[in-house]
Amino acid sequence: MKLLLVGGGHAHVHLIKKLRKNKSALYEVTLISKDERQYYSGMASGYLEGLYEETDIYFDLKSLCDTAGIDFLCDEVIRVENDKKIIETRSGMIMNYDVISFDIGSDLAGREIDGVDDFSLKIKPLGNLKEIRFICETMLPNSSKLAIVGSGAAGMEIALAIKNLSDKKNKKYKITMIGSSNEVLKGYNQKMKTLGLNVLEQSRINLVMNERVKTVESSKVIMESGLEISNDLLIWAGGSKSYGVFSKSHLLTNEKGYMRVNSYLQSETSPHIFGAGDCIAIRNYDWMRKIGVYAVKEAPVLWTNINRFLKSKPMKDYKPNNNFLSIVSTGNKSAILSYNDIVLDGFLPWLIKNYIDRHFMRKHKR
Ligand SMILES: Cc1cc2nc3c(=O)[nH]c(=O)nc-3n(C[C@H](O)[C@H](O)[C@H](O)COP(=O)(O)OP(=O)(O)OC[C@H]3O[C@@H](n4cnc5c(N)ncnc54)[C@H](O)[C@@H]3O)c2cc1C
Repeated sequence: MKLLLVGGGHAHVHLIKKLRKNKSALYEVTLISKDERQYYSGMASGYLEGLYEETDIYFDLKSLCDTAGIDFLCDEVIRVENDKKIIETRSGMIMNYDVISFDIGSDLAGREIDGVDDFSLKIKPLGNLKEIRFICETMLPNSSKLAIVGSGAAGMEIALAIKNLSDKKNKKYKITMIGSSNEVLKGYNQKMKTLGLNVLEQSRINLVMNERVKTVESSKVIMESGLEISNDLLIWAGGSKSYGVFSKSHLLTNEKGYMRVNSYLQSETSPHIFGAGDCIAIRNYDWMRKIGVYAVKEAPVLWTNINRFLKSKPMKDYKPNNNFLSIVSTGNKSAILSYNDIVLDGFLPWLIKNYIDRHFMRKHKR
């Protein structure tokens, strides 16, 4: 049986670990990933700020695959031909499969806006953070103006990380965070939003909310309202959007192009296709946000169901809930934590986050 794993996201890293421990004679496994390095977003802002080294925050997928006896191919899957059970890659390879699983994450929303690709540094792929850190640390003159588009958790973490990095380097950057909604940390509870807003204010990050970017030019962002924001560096941390591969392959998707799966994490169009993480839309659970926590929680169910499917055994339901620990880093070894009714900020939440993130990396690297 040939199992293809597409993308080295959180769930597939778990599958690699499982395969390392109990390599099934059932499978010939290949992991195909666009990037050889799989960066872990939970530690991204900490890396940007200088709290972590680059080697702390990525998996070398080829080495991981080697330890599990899995073939690794650095390439991008651009199309699936469901009837023939084949995929096509960017480099032109055609590969067949018996079962395929997608954990390819999501792209950055807004890239299609005029000028974004030419005049901004994008936070995805996360490997770009290396260049962003280098520029912020060493190349920008003092008092430069930085604009960050995105007011969700990622945008806020990045803005605060750059603020702390610049403080450490005695640079006086003027940072503006731009959001299309009227609140920061959309999707989080009110206490988290209030604490987030307080930290941004204390950090003197200028907020421009409720404004949609129309075009980007070499040194300014122009909003649909006509407002213009000049900058020396623009960082794009907009929300998530689906890669086009599922729509191109005529697999059933939701209206945003994410692969529609049932509660077994199995494509509704084809039982031989599974998925996890940002790239899927589970039927009846469209409220789920695009956060790595879900990919981590789906991983064991994905593993069980691929195995059970191949052995024609009954599969397990995945039932998401939003009752989990959320921690957003606010820089300088501080964070905001929320769990049920408890909301905390300061060093303790950061300590917990640091432990969870380091543990995740250690557990899967081994
Ligand atoms: C700065 C930042 C901070 C974040 N912090 C957190 C946090 O603290 N907690 C949290 O829960 N979430 C966080 N998120 C969100 C989180 O990153 C995503 O929800 C999560 O990464 C999704 O995981 P995934 O397993 O779906 O895929 P990913 O982790 O995105 O991995 C997908 C991989 O697939 C590869 N790939 C893509 N397309 C293809 C293709 N066609 N063929 C082959 N390979 C492909 C990509 O190169 C990528 O390596 C953060 C996001 C950002 C940007």
